[in-house]
Order: sequence, then C-alpha cells, then structure tokens
Amino acid sequence: MLIRLSGIIGMTAVILVMVSPERWGLAVSLILGNVFFAGFLVMCPRCMFLGDNIVRLPEPAIGRGEIALTFDDGPDVRVTPLVLELLDRFKVKASFFCIGEKAAAHPEILAEIIKRGHSVENHTYHHRNLFALYSSSALKKEIVSTQKTFSKNGIKARFFRAPMGFRSPFLDGVLRDCRLEHVAWTRRGFDTVWKRADAVFLRLSRNLSAGDVLMLHDGGSALTPEGQPVVVAVLPGLLERCADLGLHGVSLPMAFREDA
Ligand SMILES: [Zn+2]
Repeated sequence: MLIRLSGIIGMTAVILVMVSPERWGLAVSLILGNVFFAGFLVMCPRCMFLGDNIVRLPEPAIGRGEIALTFDDGPDVRVTPLVLELLDRFKVKASFFCIGEKAAAHPEILAEIIKRGHSVENHTYHHRNLFALYSSSALKKEIVSTQKTFSKNGIKARFFRAPMGFRSPFLDGVLRDCRLEHVAWTRRGFDTVWKRADAVFLRLSRNLSAGDVLMLHDGGSALTPEGQPVVVAVLPGLLERCADLGLHGVSLPMAFREDA
C-alpha cells in the first residue's frame, strides 16, 4: 500500500509539472517529502506501515506470563556458549536471530542452541547495513540463502528480523513468499554500543511485563570496562528480575504456539 501511495504522489508531482510548469517548486516539494517520508518509515523498526511486524507477544502468551528474549548477530564462538549457560541456569528459553554466514561457519553452535530447546531464526546471510535498500530479488537471496544454511542443519526458521530493524517497503512481500514473519522488539538494550551493563539493565528492565520482546546481542556485544561482554554481564540480573516478576522466558515459536 505504501509503495502504491508513494507512486501516486510521484505521478502527481510529474503531472503537476506537465500541466502547470510554473508550479515546479510544489512538485519538487512533493517528491522530496515523499522520499523523506519513505526514509522515515524504513528507519522506524517498530512501525506497522511497512507490513506485518511483531513488537509484542500475542494475548495467549501474555496470559501465560511469557516474555521473549532474543539474541541477534550470532552465533559467536565466545559469547553464544556463555549465553546458553546462563539461560540454562535460569531455565529460560530464547530465540537466536542468526546471521547465515556465521551459522554456516559454526554449525556446531546452531546444533547446541537447538539441543538446549531454543529457536534459531533468520537475520539475513550477510547482515549488510544497506539491506533496506536492496531490490526484492536481492532481499530474497539473503533470506533464502540463510534458510538453506539452516535446513542443512535440520532447522526451519519461522521468524525474521531485518538488520537494525530497517525494513525495505518490498520486504513484507518477500517474507510472505518465504513464509516468515518479521519480529522487531518491545525494547532493545543497545548492548553493542553501551559499555555500562547497569545502563543496559535499567533500559531493559524498566516496566518489564508479560508480552515484552527484548533484543540483545550474542554477536558483536560491546565489552564492559572489565572486558566482559555486556550481554553476559546483564543477563543474570535481568533473568533474576524476570523470575521475581513471575515472567517465563520462552522462544518465539513457544510464545506463538497455537495449541496452548
Ligand atoms: Zn543484527
């Protein structure tokens, strides 16, 4: 719908110039406004204008007191095993949005994620910053290559997250073709940037409630001043807070299961 609206505005600007050349200023304003509006939507990870976008868990999961912890940009040889150990210690399940090329290099970590009851989800093959500017066919190639890598390891992802949450207007159609659902987040920890674990913890734990989807990173985590990955420093306190509030950490397929 957005692409159609954008096309209509663009055509209106062209027709305006053809019919009334002296109004070229208005036509240019329309085109520039169109470009800036589209750019705003692309860089708005939690908005719904670019297609279906999950930012919270569904009502049945909220009723069960569930919360989803998601970890992006792995698998990582050093950090992912530490995250898995912490999740086990607190008996929590989670979802890992893995990058295809990293998954291809470390199938043993993928297997470990699945073995411990978590889910592996699709986060593109290369995780390029300009992913949101790709054509439909290039988007599909990134996504399908990752699905193929997973399937070699007996894994079928159901969910997808765009790098940084930036979505192309074409992405929704591609995801439908690939039978994937886009997941953004309720809150993110900025744990690839912020080096203070207490600041990340405060951001993630503020108003924590059932249905929240939290985004952290097992790949590219920032390091605390002591040299510890921020995600590893934050998780024990965060998982304790979840337990105190009676919140159950589940993977996305568990939260969206239909038989509950
Ligand atoms: Zn990412």
